[in-house]
Amino acid sequence: MMFVDFVNENCLGEVKKSSFKELTTISVGADILYLYIPNSVASLIKAYKFVNDNNLEYIILGNGSNILASDNEYKGIVFSLRDLDYYYKFENDNTIEVSAFYPSNKLAIDLMNNEIGDLSCLVGIPGLLGGAIYNNSGSYKDSISDSLISVDYINTSGEIIRINNKNCAFGYRRSIFKYIKGIIISARFHIRHENTKNIVNLKLKRRMESQPVKSKSMGSVFKNNPLIPSWKIVDALGLRGFQIGGAAVSQKHSNFIINIGNASAKDIISLIELIETRSRLELGISLVREIEVIN
Ligand SMILES: Cc1cc2nc3c(=O)[nH]c(=O)nc-3n(C[C@H](O)[C@H](O)[C@H](O)COP(=O)(O)OP(=O)(O)OC[C@H]3O[C@@H](n4cnc5c(N)ncnc54)[C@H](O)[C@@H]3O)c2cc1C
Repeated sequence: MMFVDFVNENCLGEVKKSSFKELTTISVGADILYLYIPNSVASLIKAYKFVNDNNLEYIILGNGSNILASDNEYKGIVFSLRDLDYYYKFENDNTIEVSAFYPSNKLAIDLMNNEIGDLSCLVGIPGLLGGAIYNNSGSYKDSISDSLISVDYINTSGEIIRINNKNCAFGYRRSIFKYIKGIIISARFHIRHENTKNIVNLKLKRRMESQPVKSKSMGSVFKNNPLIPSWKIVDALGLRGFQIGGAAVSQKHSNFIINIGNASAKDIISLIELIETRSRLELGISLVREIEVIN
């Protein structure tokens, strides 16, 4: 494939076979023919420009913690960002710049340990910062956009573009990055020099108590609507613990679907569709998915 030659000839990293089972936290999905692992941001820029110039099919993966990949082999190129180096650095006393490849949970803990608050909304989230910006991730009513100043991303021409918070169209688990093509590489945040140990520990404790953190999952499957949280809808349908094949509604948190064995994507989609259909027909509520399905 010409992409493989381009990467090898220009020493832009590695291309190999892999599987979505290895690259997603739910551990489901088919084989991948071309997994691209860039060796630097400079290489990533060149490779990204190449796939766009040549109209090649591709997807971007962070830590794969919000993704359900299908059971059909993926023949396009999967960009995996989780092995890239990451950093944070002070831009001035009140602002830090953070690499988009920084694991979100680690970032919350590292900032807490250095008394640089407050990205505690990221604690316990098993993705990378880029995925958190893409989804405007957060917890308990706080989200990453609250303290974000600007984002740098690579556009399809290989240029680095800076976009301010107000132009990111942030909303509940939503940002402009869902509607434009690009790879987020870094972001700047307002910081407060304060001790956030209590709040971080409280959020971690609540998460451990209420979520199946040791199981394979994608986090919340459905967005909450303002009137009723989605777990209450699933409970009202009597589906807590319900299983299809290797997929089950978690006993601990009924807005989580877990892989209890060798779940296929078909098992998980069947369970999601069952919940959606019954919610619509029996309760008149149309659920909206928080997770993303890759076909
Ligand atoms: C146990 C568990 C708990 C969770 N709890 C929460 C929670 O409390 N709050 C919450 O919001 N989410 C939660 N999630 C969901 C998920 O962890 C977040 O959405 C996370 O921010 C996704 O990051 P990721 O790196 O895994 O992205 P991925 O799943 O790899 O990708 C998600 C999307 O982002 C895009 N993307 C990723 N990186 C980039 C980039 N650098 N540039 C451009 N696009 C990119 C991908 O193309 C894809 O479309 C949870 C998941 C699990 C498994």
